[in-house]
Amino acid sequence: MEVWQLPVKQSNLTNHDWIHPRANYHAFLNNSSLCGKFHQDTSYFKTDLPEGNELALQMRCKRCLKKIADTTK
Ligand SMILES: [Zn+2]
Repeated sequence: MEVWQLPVKQSNLTNHDWIHPRANYHAFLNNSSLCGKFHQDTSYFKTDLPEGNELALQMRCKRCLKKIADTTK
């Protein structure tokens, strides 16, 4: 089962994890996003899509959504 999460950039410079203010949620499966753009430990980060949040639902990556639609056909 995939998990929708904001991608987190880990900065070696500031030692701070960083989320782009306009980042989309991506569907991660086995720590890789379905669109192939991001890799992160989804059990470590707590940036899951808030349940029932309409705004957050609109921020989901279109390519990840399409991957899920394609695999559930
Ligand atoms: Zn994606």
